[in-house]
Amino acid sequence: MYDVIIIGGGPAGLVAGLYSTRARLACLLIESRTIFSQAITTERIENYPGFPNGIESFELIDRMKEQAKGFGLEFAFGDVKGFTKQGERWIVNLEDKDYESKTVVVATGASPKKLGISGEAEFCGRGVSYCATCDGPLFSDKDIVVVGGGDTALEEAIFLTKFAKKVVIIHRRDKLRATKLLQERAFSNEKIEFVWDSKLLEIFGKDGVEGVRIKDLKTEQESQLLCHGVFLFIGLTPNTDFLMGEVELDEAGYIITDDEMKTSANGIFAAGDCRKKSFRQIITAASDGALASFSAQRYIEG
Ligand code: NAP
Repeated sequence: MYDVIIIGGGPAGLVAGLYSTRARLACLLIESRTIFSQAITTERIENYPGFPNGIESFELIDRMKEQAKGFGLEFAFGDVKGFTKQGERWIVNLEDKDYESKTVVVATGASPKKLGISGEAEFCGRGVSYCATCDGPLFSDKDIVVVGGGDTALEEAIFLTKFAKKVVIIHRRDKLRATKLLQERAFSNEKIEFVWDSKLLEIFGKDGVEGVRIKDLKTEQESQLLCHGVFLFIGLTPNTDFLMGEVELDEAGYIITDDEMKTSANGIFAAGDCRKKSFRQIITAASDGALASFSAQRYIEG
C-alpha cells in the first residue's frame, strides 16, 4: 500500500511527488496516456522563476520529473476510472489494475474546451487543432484562424506566426482577457490581425479545412474567411469526470478545496488546474502540489 497516490503528471503532480518522496512517504504517480499537461502545449515558458531566458516546456517538465524520480517517486501509466474508500484506504481503479493508498492527490489538470460547432469534430486533426506546439509546423506559409482572447490564444497565435503566412484572431468581444505583455506582442506582430466582436458559426472544407463562417455579433452580419487551419483556445474544462459523487465539485466541474488543498473527502487532496481557483499558472500549480503533499503528510500522521 502506498502513502500517497498522485493522479496526474503535470507540475502540480510532480511537485506533490517531490515533496512526498522527500518526506519519505511511499508515493506513486499515475500518469495518463491520453491527457497531457497544459504546460506542454506552450512552447516556451517565460514566467517560471529561475530561467531568465525562459525554458522549453518539455524541458521544464522533464527536469521536474527527474528531480522527483531522484528522490524515489514511482510512476505508473493509465487512466484512472474512479476510486472508492475501504476502511482507512483508498482504492484507485485503473482500466486493468487497482492500487491502494492512504491518501490521494488529484492533479489531473484541465483540457481545452470545445466550441461545439459544425466542422470542429469532423476536421479535428485535419486542420482543427487545440495545440500550437504540436500542430503549428504543419501550417508553414498558410493562413490560420485562432479563436479566443485569453493568454493561451495570444501566446499560441504569436507562436504560430513562426510558421504561418497570417494569423487572424477571432474574439467574441472587443477587449482581450490576456496579460498586457502578450497583448502588446500580438498587436505589434505584423502577421497577426484581429476580428473583434465575432463568433465562429462553422468550419468548412473538403479533405481539410478551407475556411470558417463568422458572425459579427454587433451587426449580425455573416461572412466567410478562407484559411487552412483553425486553432481553438477558448478556455479549459477540468479533468474531473471520474470524481463525480466522490468529492465536491463546483458547477463547472472544478474540485472545491480549502486553503490546504483538502477536498470534501477525507484523505483526498487536489492540486493545480483541476481545482477551483482564480489563477492557473505553472507556479500556482507547483505551489498547490507542495501544499497538497504537506496536507497528505499531516493526514497520515493523524
Ligand atoms: P481563459 O483565460 O479562460 O480565456 C478563454 C478565452 O476564450 C476568453 O477570451 C473567452 O472570451 C474566450 N471564450 C470562451 N468561451 C468561448 C466561446 N464559447 N466562444 C468564443 N470564445 C470563447 O482560457 P486560457 O486562455 O486557456 O487560459 C486558461 C488559464 O491558463 C488562465 O488562467 C490563463 O491565465 C492561464 N495561462 C497562462 C499563461 C501564461 O502565464 N503565460 C499561458 C496560457 C494560459 P471572454 O474573454 O469574452 O470571456
